[in-house]
Amino acid sequence: MDYKTEVVIIGGGATGAGIARDLALRGIPSILVERGDFTSGASGRNQGLLHSGARYAVYDPEAARECVAENRILRHIAPHCIEPTGGLFVSLPEDGFEFRGEFIRACENAGIETVSLSPREALALEPGINPLLIGAVQVPDGAIDPFTLVVENIRDAESRGAVVFTHTEATGFLRDGDGVAGVVVRDLLEKKEFTISASWVINAAGAWANRILALAGLSIPMSLSKGSMLITNTRLSQRVLNRCRPPASGDIIVPNSTVSILGTTSLRVDAVESFEVLPEEAAFLVYELSLLVPEIKSERFIRAYAGVRPLIRSGETDDDRSLSRGFSLIDHQKENGISGLVTIAGGKLITCRLMAEKTVDFLCEKMGLRAPCTTAEQRLPGAGIGRSLQDRLLHMRREIPAARQEILCDCELVPRDEVEAVLKEGKVRELRDILHRTRIAKGTCQGGFCVYRLLGMLNELRRERNRGDSNEILMDFLEERWRGIRPILWGTALKEEELIESIYKGLFNLSGELSGGQEAGERGRR
Ligand SMILES: Cc1cc2nc3c(=O)[nH]c(=O)nc-3n(C[C@H](O)[C@H](O)[C@H](O)COP(=O)(O)OP(=O)(O)OC[C@H]3O[C@@H](n4cnc5c(N)ncnc54)[C@H](O)[C@@H]3O)c2cc1C
Repeated sequence: MDYKTEVVIIGGGATGAGIARDLALRGIPSILVERGDFTSGASGRNQGLLHSGARYAVYDPEAARECVAENRILRHIAPHCIEPTGGLFVSLPEDGFEFRGEFIRACENAGIETVSLSPREALALEPGINPLLIGAVQVPDGAIDPFTLVVENIRDAESRGAVVFTHTEATGFLRDGDGVAGVVVRDLLEKKEFTISASWVINAAGAWANRILALAGLSIPMSLSKGSMLITNTRLSQRVLNRCRPPASGDIIVPNSTVSILGTTSLRVDAVESFEVLPEEAAFLVYELSLLVPEIKSERFIRAYAGVRPLIRSGETDDDRSLSRGFSLIDHQKENGISGLVTIAGGKLITCRLMAEKTVDFLCEKMGLRAPCTTAEQRLPGAGIGRSLQDRLLHMRREIPAARQEILCDCELVPRDEVEAVLKEGKVRELRDILHRTRIAKGTCQGGFCVYRLLGMLNELRRERNRGDSNEILMDFLEERWRGIRPILWGTALKEEELIESIYKGLFNLSGELSGGQEAGERGRR
């Protein structure tokens, strides 16, 4: 079946989801296509820092101003996606105070509140910091849950009429003379092609933006920068911790629920799918960040992962840290004489609402529509629902009858009920779709002890019967998990992996004869 709409959005990351919601709130029909599930790109592979803007204040003041404004808006519209931890910029003896003065002035100019702390005051707040620090500056950084943010934008957009196709890839453009008049797409699970005619196509494909543009013979100057991150087994600090020095690799620790995320590196890459974390990147992050929090040297890590940043280039530079974290909205009629096509790229997770606002303002102007943006005021549907571990525990105690309190994920306390509610929405097409919509596999075992329970439940419900054999699905999940575990396998992490391996190989016989046949076993051995 072919479709017709006003706007097609390519990409279901934070930017595409924000655009779908903004369009829906202004009454403009749209269809979003995402070739994986939401958050398959950088939106599900970032450090989860709710920037105060302080990090960019000295070298990228415009990005800093955008961040601080969006930080305030997100606290209002999406409080359930945010942990307002606050942040510290810590000066170590080797950093000196030279940068700190400039940093405080630049924050003031960008409208970012700062409070200077003595070493004693900083240590009273965060006892884990290197006791040799010479000072710290407090800023309104925080932590943000990108998965909930994106899924909630989509849910709100759909409830207002937007149509969304996941696991559906844009493979070509429909043309109308010199213009673009829609897209050709392919449902990757059903292996079916169809078309969507539209007046406008928005390329919100992040790091894949140039792959989309290549379908129309176009490109934009863009560098791809891989950033790798490590997740610790425990939460190392209550606040976000930054080094107070010019932005560099390995200088931020973001607390996230029960764990902390260390990041990031910055390596120029050619391929968009460069998600492998190199052992030297893991070693670098452990070394650099243990200068900030010495306990990191003996910490157990539970996962390594990487994402790719699309950085819009202006001029020649080899230093990706010096490229702006701001965003660009490109009208391809003005730039290349191709009407109906717009690219929105760059930016940050926390500026996705603003990027959507600017994109839809542009479309409204072109359509001659006067429909003001309301996304800065209208809260997301789940705003007001507590999502912390404590909130989930209280919810289970109060609202789920004891008989139905079966817990699927012990680390993150995800009850069977929560998964059933997600399945009821009818949007789940793959195992990973459930993982993106719940906290399953995000805790300290990274799915090692809970994903088989989830598959058991799905089997029982006969939900995934037509999606293939459970053992194959489990094997795919374990292979993906293994890629994230391999770079951090030392100490106790190694011991736990041996236990998990013995469960899957010994109890479940996953490496031997499989009910799904020889093929899955072969893949497991590779
Ligand atoms: C290492 C790293 C750390 C970061 N840390 C932070 C942070 O702490 N805080 C912050 O605010 N920002 C951070 N960012 C930036 C932030 O993650 C991104 O700016 C944001 O997620 C970009 O969202 P997006 O929707 O534009 O792109 P993406 O999330 O990449 O979405 C693009 C989507 O397009 C889809 N797609 C591609 N091709 C096609 C096709 N042919 N058809 C259909 N769909 C297609 C992809 O599957 C993908 O889901 C970080 C980024 C990286 C890489």
